[in-house]
Amino acid sequence: MAEPLRVLVHGGGIGGLTLAVALAGSGHTVEVVELRDELDALGVGIIQPSNALHVMREIGVLDACLAAGFEWEVLTICDQAGATLAKIPQPRMDGVPASNGIPRPALAQVLGTAAVAAGVPIRFGTTIDALADDGAGVEVTLSDGSRARWDLVVGFDGIGSPLRTRLYGDRFTPEYTGFANWRVTVDRLPEIRGVVVSAGRTSTKALLTPITDELMYLAAVTAEEPDFRPDPARAHEQLRERLAGFGGPVAEALASVNTADGVVYSRISQVTVDAPWHVGRVVIAGDAAHASTPNLAQGAAMAVEDALVLARSLDAEEDVAAGIAAWEERRRSRAMFVQNLSRAILKEETGTATTPEEDELLKTGMPGAAHALVEPY
Ligand SMILES: Cc1cc2nc3c(=O)[nH]c(=O)nc-3n(C[C@H](O)[C@H](O)[C@H](O)COP(=O)(O)OP(=O)(O)OC[C@H]3O[C@@H](n4cnc5c(N)ncnc54)[C@H](O)[C@@H]3O)c2cc1C
Repeated sequence: MAEPLRVLVHGGGIGGLTLAVALAGSGHTVEVVELRDELDALGVGIIQPSNALHVMREIGVLDACLAAGFEWEVLTICDQAGATLAKIPQPRMDGVPASNGIPRPALAQVLGTAAVAAGVPIRFGTTIDALADDGAGVEVTLSDGSRARWDLVVGFDGIGSPLRTRLYGDRFTPEYTGFANWRVTVDRLPEIRGVVVSAGRTSTKALLTPITDELMYLAAVTAEEPDFRPDPARAHEQLRERLAGFGGPVAEALASVNTADGVVYSRISQVTVDAPWHVGRVVIAGDAAHASTPNLAQGAAMAVEDALVLARSLDAEEDVAAGIAAWEERRRSRAMFVQNLSRAILKEETGTATTPEEDELLKTGMPGAAHALVEPY
């Protein structure tokens, strides 16, 4: 790109802030609009696999992520009683650890601080009200009434992406899988030094993930009706009912959850945008384009890879259209591999019927995927 670009990022989540830091680092003018009033990322903790940590290194925040989180190397598989069935060392990319658990608010702070330090304004409590792409640029009106012209608008606005709806109507909407994820932060048990997955005798699965020296989170994947929502007063009891058959560290962690506060419930959905991830100079990326089930713990990793590759593609190509095309060419198959395999693993783990294509993918399995995903993105 001969001239620096003016880029508006819609959504200051994990992918949007990563893109902002990467673009500002190459001299582009970037602004982020974020609907929430502050960087108070909802949620509990997140696993940063090696490929995500590699992106963090490229944008200069690896040390900050590791300092705020809990680095780990070995995935442990247990039965429902807590007996160890397997220990699986996680592969790593050159120069970065295998994995890091981190509280979501801490990751939001790390990325937000880096964006501000790179000179990126973040407009909180703001969204796009109107946009018009005339082929040479995009005229955008924000909800605060301000108007400006941008070379590119990127929607990193999450699984419910309002920008996706603006571009495609209701052609691509989140599809509920029939399963939900319960998460709650508890004190880290000394023996939890990496992710521990316990498979239940029913479709229920429990995970323990260390996120700091002091903290870990307990997660449960359970089958739930589409309209089920936990009772705000007794979500902890409802979680306990679902994990009643689990022993070992899961039961120990659960015993410390004595209030509904802090129990986070998320329906597991995915979105497949079976069309180009851009219309003219407006792009969607991360969960907005390809949200997947969390079974490979790769959703945010795909979002940050999208962000870095988009920034690099824009730098490498002669114009915006070529940059977007090169980016999408590089990203689609990898993101779809993660989405399709994650969904197949969810089905396998929960005893749901799989398709022949999914059976083929399942031959790769989680260990195969981990090795594939430490290949360059
Ligand atoms: C239960 C669960 C566990 C997961 N665990 C992992 C894991 O361990 N590892 C992993 O890699 N991934 C994990 N993921 C996936 C991960 O959370 C997402 O893939 C990742 O957050 C996507 O990043 P994103 O930037 O695309 O969207 P988000 O991080 O969701 O950010 C979207 C942003 O857009 C903002 N926004 C929305 N609407 C507007 C609007 N109208 N105007 C302005 N801003 C707007 C939102 O407020 C938000 O800040 C998990 C997901 C779930 C559901």
